Amino acid sequence: AISLFATKVTIFHINDTHGHAWTFSEYKNPNIGGFAVIASIIDKERAVNPNVLFLHAGDLNTGVPESDLLNALPDIFVLNRMKLTAMAVGNHEFDKDRSVLEYQMSIAKFPFLSANIYKNGKPFFTPYIIKNVGGVKVAIFGLTTEETAILEPLYSSDLEFRNAIEVAKELVPKLRAEADVVVALTHLGMGMEHEGDYTTSEQLAQAVDGIDVIIDGHSHTKLAKAKVINNTIIVQAWEWGKILGKLELDVENGKIANWNWTPIPVKLEGNEEALYVKVPLDIFAKMGSEKLDTVIGETKILLDGERAHVRSGDTNLGHLITDAMLWKTGAEIALQNGGGIRASIKPDKITIRDILTVLPFGNTVYVLKLKGSELLKVLEYAATIPEGKGAFLHVAGLTWKSEGGKVTEVLVNGKPLDPNKIYLVATNNYMAGGGDGYSLLKENKSSGYDTGFVLADVVVEYIQKGLNGKIETYDDTPRYIRK
Ligand code: ATP
Ligand code: ZN
Repeated sequence: AISLFATKVTIFHINDTHGHAWTFSEYKNPNIGGFAVIASIIDKERAVNPNVLFLHAGDLNTGVPESDLLNALPDIFVLNRMKLTAMAVGNHEFDKDRSVLEYQMSIAKFPFLSANIYKNGKPFFTPYIIKNVGGVKVAIFGLTTEETAILEPLYSSDLEFRNAIEVAKELVPKLRAEADVVVALTHLGMGMEHEGDYTTSEQLAQAVDGIDVIIDGHSHTKLAKAKVINNTIIVQAWEWGKILGKLELDVENGKIANWNWTPIPVKLEGNEEALYVKVPLDIFAKMGSEKLDTVIGETKILLDGERAHVRSGDTNLGHLITDAMLWKTGAEIALQNGGGIRASIKPDKITIRDILTVLPFGNTVYVLKLKGSELLKVLEYAATIPEGKGAFLHVAGLTWKSEGGKVTEVLVNGKPLDPNKIYLVATNNYMAGGGDGYSLLKENKSSGYDTGFVLADVVVEYIQKGLNGKIETYDDTPRYIRK
């Protein structure tokens, strides 16, 4: 039958919200984001058009202490109220152990979609859903970056991350047969060229026919307009709910006849806040604030955790964190990945919130015994890490040099490294699990144990007791010199 009218289907989407359920401020950019604002924008559309879908392309977890403390309960509680249709599983959904993810899935009234994550030969998550939207059948399937196995080795090692293109090639024809519109909800990231063996959403569009729309996440890409590759519309909504993507589709006779994509800036100014979202978020924030606002000390200097700095050299904050590991464990050497240091601390009173903003991952401290020769291999790997990578190494207890990617000097407490001596080495559980390519630490893991000390708590205790709550200066002499 030929229908005379097109059905208008509107898909709202966000991705990589990383705990940013609440409105927040950035430098020169006050009162941005916030799920209550997003809800009011979506509600306006729902009032005039019943055919609305709302999708999240993954990485709900990790980044705001109020959310992290409660394992993203606030975010999920309000997304339920906002009638989120579905979420893709992002790599950061594996930041904490599996029981946390299972808890999140149990309270969510929306499915966590991923068609390419397998366990024992079966899909571990719901691969897809099909929604009837005003008579239009919309299939939505999830895909998760294969990089998750490398980025999150700790809590994903029992899972198999199958190639996104191969999975989609098999699944899309089936969905096409059942639905009018096929949407891939992907946590893959944008970009055609990259290092490493993983699929991006653009490569997916190029390689697989029959996907109408890709709603993407992972690369935190700010798009001015949608991309089209191989007849597939590709969109992404930057990060932290700062943009709400709005994709309007006119579906006629089971086909997209027209479409339009708008990236809507999310800010308080000029918008309303939906109270059914704002009120519970305020309550959740209060639950956390007593703990988070606790002052643990004061710093007169900037403790530098700037992304570009901690991924290219050692900083006073990297020193403080690794020194705290030594102080707590009595190990001789401490190792910390720069990518695990997520923010600076400005000269002011220091609160628990500040520390959890620097160290949001909930890492624990791992202690292992490493032969000098093994430790040297770890440093040989670290010397090859390009600047800008999260794997960039911060150390305590040793100083070292490299030239052209080769290690030229290693001193442990001022003495040359002894290849036959066994050293006690503290690190975080992410690196001990082989994170950031430190597979050598993983191989030696059996020689050590997880102390169970949460790294952020260790740093709090070190500032309070080790430094008596006062930081006037801190060692910023480079411990690693690279030529
Ligand atoms: P996305 O949110 O899109 O996945 P991201 O913000 O995690 O991206 P990057 O900012 O490049 O991506 O950070 C990745 C780096 O973060 C890793 O290389 C690693 O250094 C660090 N990292 C990620 N997860 C952990 C973890 N659980 N513990 C410690 N460090 C981590
Ligand atoms: Zn992300």
